[in-house]
Amino acid sequence: MKNFCKNMLKKSLLLWMLAVCLGMMGCIFDSDEETEVTLLPDSGLFFQMFPNDKANNDSVDAQLAHGIRLLVHPKATYELSFDKGEATEAPRLQLFRLDVKGDSYYASKVRVISATESNGRFVYKFTCDENDMAQWATSLEMNRGFYKGSTRNVEFKGKGAYSDHMSLNLVAVGNVAETLDGFTIEEFSDELLKRFRKYYSSVTIDTLYVSYAQDHPWVGKNYPADEPWVAGRSSRDTMLCELTGWPDMESALELILVHSIYSDGVVGFSNLFSGNMEAGEGSTVLLGTHTRSRGSSVPLTMDEIVETALHETGHFFGLRHTTSTMRDMSAYYDFSNYEDGLEDTPYCPELQRSGLVKESAEGEVDFRIPGMRMRREAKADYNFTLEQCPDADNFMYPVVSDVRYSQFSKEQLEIIRSSLMIFPH
Ligand SMILES: [Zn+2]
Repeated sequence: MKNFCKNMLKKSLLLWMLAVCLGMMGCIFDSDEETEVTLLPDSGLFFQMFPNDKANNDSVDAQLAHGIRLLVHPKATYELSFDKGEATEAPRLQLFRLDVKGDSYYASKVRVISATESNGRFVYKFTCDENDMAQWATSLEMNRGFYKGSTRNVEFKGKGAYSDHMSLNLVAVGNVAETLDGFTIEEFSDELLKRFRKYYSSVTIDTLYVSYAQDHPWVGKNYPADEPWVAGRSSRDTMLCELTGWPDMESALELILVHSIYSDGVVGFSNLFSGNMEAGEGSTVLLGTHTRSRGSSVPLTMDEIVETALHETGHFFGLRHTTSTMRDMSAYYDFSNYEDGLEDTPYCPELQRSGLVKESAEGEVDFRIPGMRMRREAKADYNFTLEQCPDADNFMYPVVSDVRYSQFSKEQLEIIRSSLMIFPH
């Protein structure tokens, strides 16, 4: 089967190789100008930031001078800043584009930016002139070497140039229409659109299309209409990214509806801050109509699938879980991000202490797909109930409980809108 999407594990290995490669290359290279030194990142580039993320990101603070990755988009304007601390003079920010060409990797210098000062912070403003989503990397230079001053409380703000309207394309894969539990695809899509319009209130949902995988113009033949499609087993690419790029709906967000996901208890998947509203890798949100438990599959209700769609799409636009799971923190190697950092979403220390989120991290989680967010059903057989958590009614609560989701917070809605306007569509 032709696969448009790069294997995510391969991608992470490549990034690691890139990191090693950059590390070996050392620090000082030819300069664009005679007087200017080029400081290639030497941190390994393990840590990255996406715009408008409010989590603590202590690792980013620690690594900014020696290199973090930044996800940037065409036409967007960005502002990177940190506390100046005791410093009297600002370092210069060097930005590099990370390119993958065949088996080789290049970090090419994009520009050097001087700081302005505002409210005790050094502030660096830049625009992105890329044609597509890109990864840039940082270094901070002072006196021809890496900046040694403090870089606390890094913030990365982004402002996009695209519209705050979007459409959705629900793609039914295999025989899901036949196996829904007491409702039709039409009823489901009506409810989905209604709830997206109600809860994604900071953006405008223009249209919801319904498509069938077997009708896809290029890859439809690979998706028989009469089989249950188990993502992660029926195909190598769990996220089914090749089922995107439908004619006349290129920039609709694809919600891919499969029979189930080949991982016990997982009801949906999305990338965190996916960045791609167009086609191919990273442009899908995955939903199951059934959840798997010890080899058998259990049908989900319409409400459960719709709520999962709202939750996963939140991740797609850069929302973290209100309370981080152990997996969330370990996937990004940053245990300072125990919650989303938003002031208007509470978090639940009891949930973190319960061991439940730890189980989520170390259970049958599919580590072949690093960086992905998932929703998992969980039973409340611990010393507290999942329903007691103050964030249990927020759409970004990490586990399924008996409390009905009823809100995104104001700050979450702002992030959804700003991310949508950053993603080309
Ligand atoms: Zn989630």
